[in-house]
Amino acid sequence: MEPLGFVDAHVRDLRERGLFRPLPVLESPQGPRIRIGGRELINMSSNDYLGLANDAALREAAMAGAKTWGGGAGAVRTIAGTLDVHQALEAEIAAWKGVEATLVFQSGFAGNLGTIPALVGRGDVILSDELNHASIIDGCRLSRAEIRRFAHADADSLREQLAGCTADQRKLVVTDGVFSMDGDIAPLPDICDAAEAYGAMVMVDDAHGSGVLGRGGRGSVDHFGLHGRVQVQLGTLSKAIGSMGGYIAGSQALRDYLTHTARPVLFSTSHPPAVVETTRAAIRVLTREPERVERLWDNARFFKQGLSDLGMDLGRSATPITPVIVGEAERAHALSDRLRQRGVFVQSVAFPTVPRDAARVRAMVSAAHSRDDLAQAIDAFGEAMRGL
Ligand SMILES: *Cc1c(COP(=O)(O)O)cnc(C)c1O
Repeated sequence: MEPLGFVDAHVRDLRERGLFRPLPVLESPQGPRIRIGGRELINMSSNDYLGLANDAALREAAMAGAKTWGGGAGAVRTIAGTLDVHQALEAEIAAWKGVEATLVFQSGFAGNLGTIPALVGRGDVILSDELNHASIIDGCRLSRAEIRRFAHADADSLREQLAGCTADQRKLVVTDGVFSMDGDIAPLPDICDAAEAYGAMVMVDDAHGSGVLGRGGRGSVDHFGLHGRVQVQLGTLSKAIGSMGGYIAGSQALRDYLTHTARPVLFSTSHPPAVVETTRAAIRVLTREPERVERLWDNARFFKQGLSDLGMDLGRSATPITPVIVGEAERAHALSDRLRQRGVFVQSVAFPTVPRDAARVRAMVSAAHSRDDLAQAIDAFGEAMRGL
């Protein structure tokens, strides 16, 4: 028996069933228009909401960071891998978010894997929205706490689950702030009310909320004015912020606690200086140019109105994430292919990521799209849908 035989068999099976999807390779930098397979396409698939990923200020900062501080960080945070610039970045994110302190992780994914098991363990209980992101689910599993799922965005269902816990159990309520497949926003005020009634901690994963919701993109907690009522905010630096990484925002005590307990902090090397300086530049741009967030929302309204006028089903989206729900997986894949033929890059999403009858293409609007890009994309949607 070939030890890796199951791998070959799996890939062969995917190919035979037409399910093997080669990685799309960009032959240009990230941006509103990208090149794939030698063709320029309008890019409606990346999370670069504010057009920061390839911004001149970020490019310059990356080079300056490497030039001054070198290539790698050389150690984990707790040993010798905390450079002056790491600390500076964390203070700057804290000032921007309006919290006491932050702690940066290698990615948002690592932030969830590190933070959730540091907050709860065996004998404790996690209350988790049924549509939470994979990295929350994995963090919950790693913790060994009991996991109780509540119905999506349903504070009454959350209350029922909380009522079934014992009073002495430590409880963590965790939810996405913005849900990545539907673009809807978690009902955080109701979730906080429910959690407070039962003495539970609240953690919000704001990966798609950071840089998008709230004043100047400060996130969903700011959007709802819930400062002080959400103990743990997780944000990503890899989407709207245009760089790479994740952060936990909260109290100084929370930061101090996690520097002693979160395993990606203790056992995995910190960001290279170029990444840190790229992120610092992004926070500066975001602070200086909050109008980028307004442009993002203007673009989202324009694009979504255009698709609605064509009679498309955008589900429950309340953000720039624009799902176009078409039903069967085959229809979603065909729509994505037809859009690509018409110069628009939009990826399809099907079961098991979304329900079987709700396959979709998911279009991501950016502040960097011109009105021309969006008008062209709307036309392409109209044509591609006809005769599908
Ligand atoms: C993208 C995402 C993450 C992971 O963030 P990375 O920085 O890309 O690792 C975590 N949570 C949610 C809800 C996300 O959408």
